[in-house]
Amino acid sequence: MIDFHCHLDLYPDALKLLPIVSARNLFTLVVTTSPKAWLATSNVFAGYENIKVALGLHPEIAEQKAGERLLLLSCIPKAKYIGEIGIDGSPKYKETISLQESILNDTLTECERAGGKILSIHSRNASSRVLDLVEKNCRKSTVVLHWFSGSLTEAQRAQDLGCWFSVGPAMLRGANGRSIVASLPINKILPETDGPFTTNRSAPLMPWEAIDIVNTLVPIWGIPKEDVILQIRNNLAALISEENFQQNHSDTK
Ligand SMILES: [Zn+2]
Repeated sequence: MIDFHCHLDLYPDALKLLPIVSARNLFTLVVTTSPKAWLATSNVFAGYENIKVALGLHPEIAEQKAGERLLLLSCIPKAKYIGEIGIDGSPKYKETISLQESILNDTLTECERAGGKILSIHSRNASSRVLDLVEKNCRKSTVVLHWFSGSLTEAQRAQDLGCWFSVGPAMLRGANGRSIVASLPINKILPETDGPFTTNRSAPLMPWEAIDIVNTLVPIWGIPKEDVILQIRNNLAALISEENFQQNHSDTK
């Protein structure tokens, strides 16, 4: 149906998957891990109007890809979607946190200068740092927090800042993820998989499996499954309003 954050370029057999994902999903946002990957993937994935490729520089590899920072900033005017960007404050990446922060700050600034973008942002163990930068920089851009795992207070702050949230089956397996989602407005939630880095038992989650979150949302939202699906489709339409996917795609996706 919709996968608002996946790494489709990193699945084995990505090219074979492309037409299947395009047919099965209403919309898929492919986030990339570096600007060079964005350039290459945008070329290879061209021709599928419901698969969009976002320009990114993944915070976990900020140091390795620091040389592509200027390329990232120079590509922003050409990209509608930006991701995966953000900050990861986990112990493994703590050493590069000021570099990550500085790249994110520059990226958000450049997005504003370019008139505002739709951004998919990583904030693991760094929710407050990310929200500080969003608060400081984002006026025209729309921020979608991917797999948000901060506290309920931080989730409230993110809502107050106008953030959206992309939520996947893996996030909803945990009690913290479910309580965050229960606290969020239903009109700011989109499905995601973060595949192939998340799994369903042992196989990577596929982009069309993001819809599995609907089963968890039914009891949380207290509305029937069809209404949950409709809400999510309306959310996507509201976010990307200038591109009318509803007209181009059947209601069954
Ligand atoms: Zn990701």
